[in-house]
Amino acid sequence: AYVIAEPCVDVMDKACVEECPVDCIYEGGRTLYVHPDECVDCGACEPVCPTEAIFYEDDLPDSMTRYANENAQFFTNP
Ligand code: SF4
Repeated sequence: AYVIAEPCVDVMDKACVEECPVDCIYEGGRTLYVHPDECVDCGACEPVCPTEAIFYEDDLPDSMTRYANENAQFFTNP
């Protein structure tokens, strides 16, 4: 799945929400989250993010690997 990482925090531009064909990007308090089971890995969201906050999970920079968990946990511990 794709993951929304640190550059989205307190930005939440939401350009990605418009692009996602399966509407699996959700709004949290300070950032957006991708539902990992609903994401179809199309990649449409990644290039439209103005802060470059979106990564395929395996391509997350080392400093942001925890965001894969944080996106998933948003949906299991709301
Ligand atoms: Fe939505 Fe595609 Fe981005 Fe997954 S990769 S969050 S399905 S736009």
